[in-house]
Amino acid sequence: MSGSIKLIDVAPTMARVLGVKTPPTDGRAIDLVEGWECDRVVLAIVDSLGYGLYKALELDLPNMRSMASEGVLLKAECVAATTAPAIASILTGLMPKKHGISNTSQASDSEIRSLLEWASSDMIRSAVVMEEEGARTFNGFVTTVMGVSKSLVGRNFDREILERSLEALKTEPRLLVAHFLGIDRIAHDGGGIEEIRGAASEIDGHLGDLAAAAAERTMVAVCGDHPLHAGVLKGVYDSRDVALIFWKKENGRRAASL
Ligand SMILES: [Zn+2]
Repeated sequence: MSGSIKLIDVAPTMARVLGVKTPPTDGRAIDLVEGWECDRVVLAIVDSLGYGLYKALELDLPNMRSMASEGVLLKAECVAATTAPAIASILTGLMPKKHGISNTSQASDSEIRSLLEWASSDMIRSAVVMEEEGARTFNGFVTTVMGVSKSLVGRNFDREILERSLEALKTEPRLLVAHFLGIDRIAHDGGGIEEIRGAASEIDGHLGDLAAAAAERTMVAVCGDHPLHAGVLKGVYDSRDVALIFWKKENGRRAASL
């Protein structure tokens, strides 16, 4: 493969799958998924899912492992060390210095549009499910915006992200973006690898449910936003790469363990 894959390549890749016009981006569409003939996209951002961390946990992540083996698993270079600028780069295809978003409140004020808004401008039904402050930045541009309260503790937060995402899928969006936070929260709380494994395994179950609920010919993309950036395991598994998985749902078939 020539050149490294970066998180800024995700938005142009999804846009190409959806046939959506994009403004100029810093990233470029990833050719590996060319010809998959998907017409829908589910993008699950798994906070702090570094590539090395994914590899260390993958035996306990049967759904992601199946998606990776049936589809592709890539090592993607992250472009920011914190969540708001990283997600802005994932969704806009722009480097942080171009989108200028370093926190969530700036995201609300930003004039820069993302994959979700590009899709909406092309009359493509889209949905976003994330923490409520972040979700609010999409109000008015995106068909379905569902915010989840930050005050939900522990695994309840990600469980609610799943429930809302399943609800959003019933409206048949062609694009769904969901953001799972459990791994990052545990890292910030000082949790060790076993607690992180627990959170990751729970998210893996949620991804299995999402994949099962997705329509035929949906491309499911799973990506980290940055490597672990807090707690005792910061820098242990990754310095700059996150996991990026692409999988296609087809023929009513579920990945082996889904
Ligand atoms: Zn994050």
